Amino acid sequence: MEEELASAYDAARAVLPVLEDQAADTDRSAEFPVKAVDALRAAGLMGLLVPVEHGGSGGDLGDLVAIAGLFGSRCVSTALIWAMHCQQVDCVVRFGGERLRAGLLPRIAAGEVYLASVTTEAGKGGHLLSGDAALVGDGDQLRIDRQAPIVTGGGHAEGFLVTMRESPDADDHRVTLCYAERDQLTLETTGEWDPLGMRGTASAGMRLRGAVPPHQVVGEPGGFRAVAVESMIPAGHLGWSAVWLGAARRVLSDVLGMVRARGAEKVSDLTADRLARARIDVELVASYLASVRDEVLAHRRAGTSLAGMPTQIHLNNLKVAASELTFRAVDGLMQVAGLAKGYLRDSPIPVERVFRDLRSAALNYGNDRLTTMTGALALLDRDVTFAPAGLL
Ligand SMILES: Cc1cc2nc3c(=O)[nH]c(=O)nc-3n(C[C@H](O)[C@H](O)[C@H](O)COP(=O)(O)OP(=O)(O)OC[C@H]3O[C@@H](n4cnc5c(N)ncnc54)[C@H](O)[C@@H]3O)c2cc1C
Repeated sequence: MEEELASAYDAARAVLPVLEDQAADTDRSAEFPVKAVDALRAAGLMGLLVPVEHGGSGGDLGDLVAIAGLFGSRCVSTALIWAMHCQQVDCVVRFGGERLRAGLLPRIAAGEVYLASVTTEAGKGGHLLSGDAALVGDGDQLRIDRQAPIVTGGGHAEGFLVTMRESPDADDHRVTLCYAERDQLTLETTGEWDPLGMRGTASAGMRLRGAVPPHQVVGEPGGFRAVAVESMIPAGHLGWSAVWLGAARRVLSDVLGMVRARGAEKVSDLTADRLARARIDVELVASYLASVRDEVLAHRRAGTSLAGMPTQIHLNNLKVAASELTFRAVDGLMQVAGLAKGYLRDSPIPVERVFRDLRSAALNYGNDRLTTMTGALALLDRDVTFAPAGLL
């Protein structure tokens, strides 16, 4: 392992107590975990995916998966904030122009820029590959006026990756991804954030207005689909799944410790069955995550596209399966832990908090949107190609 990456793993392990210490407070207050994110900034972890020549750790999506899982085991909100930031960074690394990369990536690596994501839009909802609000050319600037119903960490981000319709007369599928600096925008908070779980993500709605120069377009104008398919979707589905898996694994581990402490002779067949089912669910997610991660890494190493149908199906299936199975595992573990240790907010084991957090997983890009798409794609893959592609 390269020196930069080895120190990123050391740094990730070192910040775990900070994430753990503030997890309950950030959940209670529904406020952004400033202390934890500051620790990630100071440790250089915001630059995990930034290439070494731009001052980062030069990590790949396998490193994102490994570290997101560690963070997910301590604070699901902080872990998702970080994983989503890395997802945005991957888009800039792979699709930003030279000028944008040279100016922005060293600042990300130095912990100066946390990147928020603006894809959801009032009207079109979660649909990723369409846009309503359009970029408007104004001299040498592109004007943005964008309603964003849910922006994780929007109040604390120094930069935003925003999807916009290419121009006022463009079709709604001609979407352009733009980078906007906080001081290029006028930001207005448009809603409260008081959700069931993922409370620390502070994902309130915003209106963003401002202008950016054309070199801040990421990918081709109107060509966001390629950025989404090659970068935003794979980095997102791998990173989020790792966060959810880390959280469920932690709860399983804590509940196992609790059951053992009660005395092995007191473990009923019913409890054993419930533990087994939770273990099966997390094992399935872990194996499939590793498999899809390897498929994506193999494509990236070979320089081949992720747009192939089996890979698209696997990435969608990973997100759906991870969101459903990790939640199911924690739901079952709450029954094992019982009222005092499982259901109460002040339990020493964070079952209740993780249960609420993981309930969002199926909504964080709606599973219904993915399964309807996957069903249509599956009809075109009659060979039923497994991940990794080529496995018999
Ligand atoms: C913790 C968290 C953080 C988030 N952070 C961000 C962020 O930083 N930036 C951002 O842009 N977004 C963010 N999101 C939004 C997220 O990615 C989704 O876009 C959003 O949650 C979808 O909301 P929705 O379910 O209301 O909308 P939609 O996906 O639009 O769905 C609305 C309804 O229509 C149904 N539906 C839609 N399409 C279909 C279909 N094809 N088939 C069947 N039914 C369908 C759905 O089931 C649902 O009932 C975040 C979400 C969460 C939970």
